[in-house]
Amino acid sequence: MTMLDSLFKPKAVAIVGASTKELSIGNVIIRNLQRYGYRGKIYPLNPNAPEVCGLKAYKTLDEVPDQVDLAHVIIPSQFVPDTIEECGRKGIKAVIINSAGFCELGEEGARLQEDFLRRGKEFGVRVFGPNCQGIINSDPALKAYCNFTFTFPEPGHVSVVALSGGVGALIMQALADLGVGQRFYASNGNACDISVTEILRYYGEDEGTKVVLLYTEGFPNPGEFLAAAREVAAKKPILAMKAGRTEQGAKAASSHTGSLAGVDIATELIFEKTGILSFIDEGEMARAAMAFATQPIPKGNRVGIITNTGGPAVIATDVLVSCGLDVPKLSAESIERLRPSQLPEAALENPIDVVATAGGTHFRGALDLLMSEEGVDSIFINFVTAPFTDTDEVARQIVEVNRLSRKPIVCNFMTDLSQERFRNTRDILKEGGVPIYANPSDAAKALGALARYGRLRRRDIGSPERRGGVDAARARAVIDWARAEGRSVLSAADVYTVFEAYGIPVAPWKTAANAAEAVAAAAGIGYPVVVKVDCEEIDHKSDMGGVAVNLKDAAAVAAAVESMQERLGGFGKLSFFVQKFLPGGRELIVGATEQPGLGHLVMFGLGGIYVEVLKDVSFKIAPVTKVEAGEMLSAIKTAALLDGVRGQKGIDREAVTELIERVSQLLTDLPMIKEMDLNPVMAFEKGAFAVDGRIRI
Ligand code: ADP
Ligand code: MG
Repeated sequence: MTMLDSLFKPKAVAIVGASTKELSIGNVIIRNLQRYGYRGKIYPLNPNAPEVCGLKAYKTLDEVPDQVDLAHVIIPSQFVPDTIEECGRKGIKAVIINSAGFCELGEEGARLQEDFLRRGKEFGVRVFGPNCQGIINSDPALKAYCNFTFTFPEPGHVSVVALSGGVGALIMQALADLGVGQRFYASNGNACDISVTEILRYYGEDEGTKVVLLYTEGFPNPGEFLAAAREVAAKKPILAMKAGRTEQGAKAASSHTGSLAGVDIATELIFEKTGILSFIDEGEMARAAMAFATQPIPKGNRVGIITNTGGPAVIATDVLVSCGLDVPKLSAESIERLRPSQLPEAALENPIDVVATAGGTHFRGALDLLMSEEGVDSIFINFVTAPFTDTDEVARQIVEVNRLSRKPIVCNFMTDLSQERFRNTRDILKEGGVPIYANPSDAAKALGALARYGRLRRRDIGSPERRGGVDAARARAVIDWARAEGRSVLSAADVYTVFEAYGIPVAPWKTAANAAEAVAAAAGIGYPVVVKVDCEEIDHKSDMGGVAVNLKDAAAVAAAVESMQERLGGFGKLSFFVQKFLPGGRELIVGATEQPGLGHLVMFGLGGIYVEVLKDVSFKIAPVTKVEAGEMLSAIKTAALLDGVRGQKGIDREAVTELIERVSQLLTDLPMIKEMDLNPVMAFEKGAFAVDGRIRI
């Protein structure tokens, strides 16, 4: 028995704070246990009432005659720490604190939380919650409804973990409405001890769980979640949703890499990196779960459609295609094979329109053909219950083919369920494990989710490679020196030294203290050059007139320096930075920001002024592999601009992906970097070079 078995498989439950008042949590939980048919023992605790919900009540845990695995704690928060200790003394291994009034309520609450956590540790009690619903285990042998919600799920193989009770209940209800059986349910509120990550691991090890549905609002320890998600996702599909997307998207887009810290775009990236299928709509996620619960994952994107009605097939095709699926033509040979099983008026293409008068044999003929068709990976059925056909027989044929489970099937079942006849047809499909949906769009999106998951799992991002030509010690020395001097923003020379130490190509450069030195530096670099001011106080140099480009001779260099000295001298001691002028490149940005508990996020986009105007950037979690770096280039909306447009030359993608990999490697080695920008990186047909950089430690 693991720790969490006490929580999810309790043989005896105590309700500390059991109540005789019907409209109270301490009463509802007991009635839920009773109504769901809990097979274990229920021990209400109440100092006054001799009986609650027809069960003998106890005054203290000591009085309870047997071993108890799990306790609900539904009492005012100030009494919780003592109760946790009593639970520990009683040998209770897990408690669900339904009560609120802890860290969400400021200092006093936080102190109480700290207190009960400490005592939980001391007495071996794990805490679920506080401020939460609880758990459900639908196992017919146990039927533990340790929760105060109102939906009573049928047993099945979908397990739900949701931080928010409201969303959890919504998902549970959506699954119940669809008739999808559930295994475990958990909603852990403040999650101060037992975390979503831990529950995910538990579901991963549970044989009865075939699909996990997860709702979160971010993670206190994202790195730990990433590791767990990677393990569990390798074993079973995880479908997940994180709220706050639009606000987050807006924030992420309106910021520079620099001001990005604190904005949580990391969760989505973790989902992607670990192979979790993410959703933005809880209903869509629940409907997808129905397909995942019974269907195999398609091997590719090609769908064969069978329909007995025209228009819905058109809608389905549109939705399928927008989900990245393909509805390919059938070969002439397949059409000939199909013909004998079909009515003369059937349309033998894809969609195969078996027509409204089609019966079981016609559906079966089309199903058999698509199952054996090489060029089809999944099957979509539109099934309208034409009153003049034996709809039960059609359903039975679909079920028989579905049982073979060779390719995934989803069915858009259009009917009137107030008629018993059609309810019966539906039940045949349901019991036969065919995922059915009420309209073509929902069915198509569910199939789209299966296919998207297939792509996600087939995608191999490889491992991060360590690139050669790296002098890690030199870069570290630069940073250690800056730290020793108490500088958090590196000087230009430091930045370029660090870049060069990691083999990140930069435009040739030299520093200069004054006009004469700048002229000498320019002669060394070779004209034309750029002169930039280098001053910790000046963030955006060009905004301040601190960048002079395309300087063709000594006079121009001297004039540029003198003009900057005159205008910008007030900011403090100025240094100058002379750099080779690299005209005609595409300006890109590569950036990084620290994500607490996770490492760094790496960003790519169109750089220079474009990053502010277009806000078109993509992110990955470091370490970034070669494949991921390539994906970053393709992920921006303006990706087409990276290739040649209208006679303009395309950029050196290879050089840019390598640059991103090197940046990622640098971040792995130098975790003290808080943020970093290479803006712009000048990308050419051959090569890509950083011409501006910023590092904050
Ligand atoms: P800042 O971002 O602080 O304003 P930059 O060094 O990025 O200053 O320079 C501003 C702009 O000047 C760049 O976006 C780029 O268009 C141009 N620029 C800067 N350095 C070079 C260079 N070496 N070659 C070509 N253009 C450059
Ligand atoms: Mg810049």
